[in-house]
Amino acid sequence: MNQPRCIVVCGAGGFLGGHLVADLLRQGRGPIRAVDSKPFAEWLQIFPGVDNVVLDLSDSSACGHALRDARECYDLAADMGGMGFIESNRARCMLNVLISSHLLLAAQEHQLDRFFFASSACVYNIDRQRDPSCAALTEADAYPAMPENGYGWEKLFSERMCQHFHEDFGLPVRIARYHNVYGPCGTFEGGREKAPAAICRKVIDAKFRGLSEIEIWGSGTQTRSFQYVDDCVFGTQLLMRSDYAEPLNIGSTESVTIDQMVDIVEAIAGLKLCRRYLPQAPLGVQSRNSDNTLIRRLFNWEPSTRLANGLERTYAWIHDEMAPRYR
Ligand code: NAD
Repeated sequence: MNQPRCIVVCGAGGFLGGHLVADLLRQGRGPIRAVDSKPFAEWLQIFPGVDNVVLDLSDSSACGHALRDARECYDLAADMGGMGFIESNRARCMLNVLISSHLLLAAQEHQLDRFFFASSACVYNIDRQRDPSCAALTEADAYPAMPENGYGWEKLFSERMCQHFHEDFGLPVRIARYHNVYGPCGTFEGGREKAPAAICRKVIDAKFRGLSEIEIWGSGTQTRSFQYVDDCVFGTQLLMRSDYAEPLNIGSTESVTIDQMVDIVEAIAGLKLCRRYLPQAPLGVQSRNSDNTLIRRLFNWEPSTRLANGLERTYAWIHDEMAPRYR
């Protein structure tokens, strides 16, 4: 009997890819192929019963190999990180276009039923995010185009390439614009970590070492919304199963300043620290929030995990990862 065609998760050694594979397994969906360029030892999560493969998906023959016998592909593979990484690695971020281009060509060649592309809120016009009073971003706010340098331009270009593969070649594409995602089993140090994980790490380090001060990038007044990873993975699959082929926000509408997020993490840790602000650190835009009108209308659903609840689980995981270092 023929083996059923598989679901391929690209970037499966990373944060979202690892959580997506875990969720597909929980649902008994499969067979699953998990692909990443990192050696297995560096994958954030790895599961038995999955066809785990190390491949560099910027290479076209690797993409052909990854998508053989596939029915669906989730493209979550990207050379990326938090603001500190993307602001100083613009060319590397733009080279992610090799991954999306070669995966799309392979998806077309193998006639996949679905191709998912993980885009980003970094595609939005930066002029609409200059001060904290800016309105939440609707899908239309990506145009006229003036996205984040490097990373955002590549995401916007790849979104359009997905849409044109759909129009010209009939490839069924789904495109999510993720707003900041956080949760356990993510990067929390090394330069690619994002604000929620970095703040948890700094507070945990201060607690273990008895320090009274932490550094905060910027003035603490920048506003953001952060979505918990389980919501992101759920929304991704809702979109994948739908017939909606345009870019869609998947993000939380719970807007906080960075200072308010530090307050939450301090409350979880049970301590209060002095904050030394670093105005010259990489900041990104002054404000960013997700307008969820469209996702609510399409699916009668939106990410809703409260930041305090998600941060509690994230803090606990990072705490357990770091604790052995202080023994
Ligand atoms: P991540 O860095 O944890 O995972 C990305 C994975 O892609 C890494 O494991 C990396 O090794 C892999 N990769 C990089 N280059 C590759 C290549 N050439 N071949 C194969 N694998 C390669 O990032 P993440 O947070 O899991 O993000 C997943 C996707 O979602 C990315 O496309 C990212 O741009 C997008 N996104 C994430 C967020 C967020 O807050 N996490 C927000 C917006 C968009």
